[in-house]
Amino acid sequence: PVVTRIAPSPTGYMHIGTARTALFNWLYARHTGGKFLLRIEDTDRERSTEPAVQAIFDGLNWLGLIPDEEPVFQFARADRHREVVAEMLSRGAAYRCYMTQDELEAERETARAEGRVIRSPWREVASNYPEDRPFVVRLKAALEGETVIADQVKGDVTFPNKNLDDLILLRTDGTPTYNLAVVVDDHDMGITHVIRGDDHLNNAARQTQIYQGMGWEVPVWAHLPMINGPDGKKLSKRHGAQAVSEFDDMGYLPEAMRNYLAKLGWGHGDDEIFTDAQAQEWFDIRDVVGAPARLDWAKLAHVNNHYIREAGVERLADLVKKVLKSRDWPLHDGDDAILQRTIPLVRDGAKTLLDLADSVVFALKRRPLELPEKALNQLTEEVRGRLGRLAERLAATEDWAVPALETVIRQFAEAEAVGIGKFGPSLRAVLSGGSPAPDLAGALVSLGKAESLARIEDALS
Ligand code: GLU
Repeated sequence: PVVTRIAPSPTGYMHIGTARTALFNWLYARHTGGKFLLRIEDTDRERSTEPAVQAIFDGLNWLGLIPDEEPVFQFARADRHREVVAEMLSRGAAYRCYMTQDELEAERETARAEGRVIRSPWREVASNYPEDRPFVVRLKAALEGETVIADQVKGDVTFPNKNLDDLILLRTDGTPTYNLAVVVDDHDMGITHVIRGDDHLNNAARQTQIYQGMGWEVPVWAHLPMINGPDGKKLSKRHGAQAVSEFDDMGYLPEAMRNYLAKLGWGHGDDEIFTDAQAQEWFDIRDVVGAPARLDWAKLAHVNNHYIREAGVERLADLVKKVLKSRDWPLHDGDDAILQRTIPLVRDGAKTLLDLADSVVFALKRRPLELPEKALNQLTEEVRGRLGRLAERLAATEDWAVPALETVIRQFAEAEAVGIGKFGPSLRAVLSGGSPAPDLAGALVSLGKAESLARIEDALS
């Protein structure tokens, strides 16, 4: 059975590229009926932080990419890493290298001059080690031939072995190196498919040599291209966002992110929108394209709008309240009912939850509303008189729904022998306080009858 994993280093925020890598691992595991695991690569003690670990948990949770087992923490496995190195030493697949710093420098210089990688004279020394001097443990890698990465995305990538020096496995202080830890952990976790960013393609050659040194089966490799900004350059702050949490803060829905991220480097024909079930059914790592993908904000907005229109109103109301709370907007009892009425009327135009929040605040305002200067100026005696007469008709309207209210407004305009343009904008301003609002009938329905009439009365008094 297929076992995939995401192996982030907890050294900052969770990058959107990490989220996409997690998504592809998750999709492939689901597609094959396998497992998706999480390993926290916290071996770098200087740079790894607790908040960064939390950001990974939160990011995966938010995206709904839930690992099938408890996370593995890499640093806690250092003894196991050393145990494997001891085994490699006893099998002759690794050796102790006692080169001093000076000797190493000298060898580096000679190697550079001769156009080759460094070689250690200790490679051929099998015994009589000087016990009392510091050493590193190096992999005894093949000197000839080549290491071929049969990458599912990039195709065959060949590394001549003469270009690969004998990798350090344990440092002088006995700590395992990164490549060693990755291989031991992937082996022990039973990882069959290593799907990760293509910045690790070179490591795959190194890691293959370690697998070979241990006589372990090499996993299937799939190295994913980067996500670039809209201009094709490496994604950075100036493109708008990089961290998963920022996409949450900007009001994107997790299911929209899954759909959109799946399309960054993979796709199913021209399909823009697909469900998780469809993506899981269709996804194959072999269909991922090798060229970098570009983040396209307009496409993301389009996908997000689709899922906002699909989402349940109650859920959207909760999410909008979260946005409003983050803006210190005072919420009141009764706001839920207002949101339930308003959201269906405004959500079609919302690209994000922030848009959605902007378009409901008119209904949540507390009376008396402050009207913008322009609206006050439009409230001439004539217009006031007209709004007063309209208020009477509205007060007499029982069926407080969009079609009925549209009829009331139309008939009123006919009775007054004026176009709706003569009072509509003022009514809208009176109902909304100048904030974005749906059309007149929609605004009236959002507010409910009592609140609508009270807002009109406020403006006329
Ligand atoms: N820890 C590595 C990173 O965050 C990933 C290593 C891997 O997937 O093998 O870039």
